[in-house]
Amino acid sequence: MTDDANLEPWQWPEARWRALVNHVRAGRALRPARWRDGARCAVALSFDSDHETNELRDGGKSIGRLCWGQYGNRVGVPRILKTLARYDVRATFYVPAVAALLHPDEQRRVVAGGHEIGIHGWIHELNSTLSLEAERDLVLRSADTLERIAGVRPVGLRTPSWDFSPHTLAIAKEAGLAYDSSLMADEDCFELLLDGAPTGLVELPVEWVRDDAVYFMMNRFQALRPYTPPADVLDIFRRELDAAYEEGGVFQLTMHPHVIGYRSRIWILEEIIRHARSRPGVWFATHAEVVDWARTHAA
Ligand SMILES: [Zn+2]
Repeated sequence: MTDDANLEPWQWPEARWRALVNHVRAGRALRPARWRDGARCAVALSFDSDHETNELRDGGKSIGRLCWGQYGNRVGVPRILKTLARYDVRATFYVPAVAALLHPDEQRRVVAGGHEIGIHGWIHELNSTLSLEAERDLVLRSADTLERIAGVRPVGLRTPSWDFSPHTLAIAKEAGLAYDSSLMADEDCFELLLDGAPTGLVELPVEWVRDDAVYFMMNRFQALRPYTPPADVLDIFRRELDAAYEEGGVFQLTMHPHVIGYRSRIWILEEIIRHARSRPGVWFATHAEVVDWARTHAA
């Protein structure tokens, strides 16, 4: 018997690379002919309220980066909530449990505004570095913590940094979640398969193209700088929205309070909402609502 463990990828037998690829896969497409109230396009806005947890996950030694996280709570989220309320738009906020424990009032304000809160890890940990037991424990504890603070049991998961481990899907199924929003196999919703079998979970796909952090992040000690002007970022998001509208699909967007919340950037969110509102038949909904509609009305 040969020991596959020591083989290089180019030496693997076909069964091995097929098994890796097929472990978590996009199954049946879930695109309804029409969205709620006959709408032709669904708009799903999301905000990942990481706040201090990115720095805590890395050891928590940088006071500056912890304060940057506090900006997300002090300025970013209030500014976002104000903008959403002005246009009567509901959205989804993915919150690490530690960020919710640090800022419980913020989560209650989010829920009071009609928005959804979803799981975003315990302390923004990277799932692919964890054992099955540790990841499972953190997902379940995160769900309990968010429910205790916000008063609503989360039904959706966005893995921190979209880092999806080989165990994540089975854990999400065991936790009774309705959907995930961390994978990029499509632009519209799809059924998630685990080793070829339907799980009952729906994916509402994300994409780096539709993520503010890709264009705006900055790290003083690395070469990472915001190279793309805000107007160009709006242009990319608007093209994604216009094409989703033409195709009758979902426009899903990922933003971060400590990235989009600035005076020179918050207008992008406002412009996207105004642009969508200017077209007939656009349904703004939380990720949970979009997933629910897609699952029950797929053509
Ligand atoms: Zn995050």
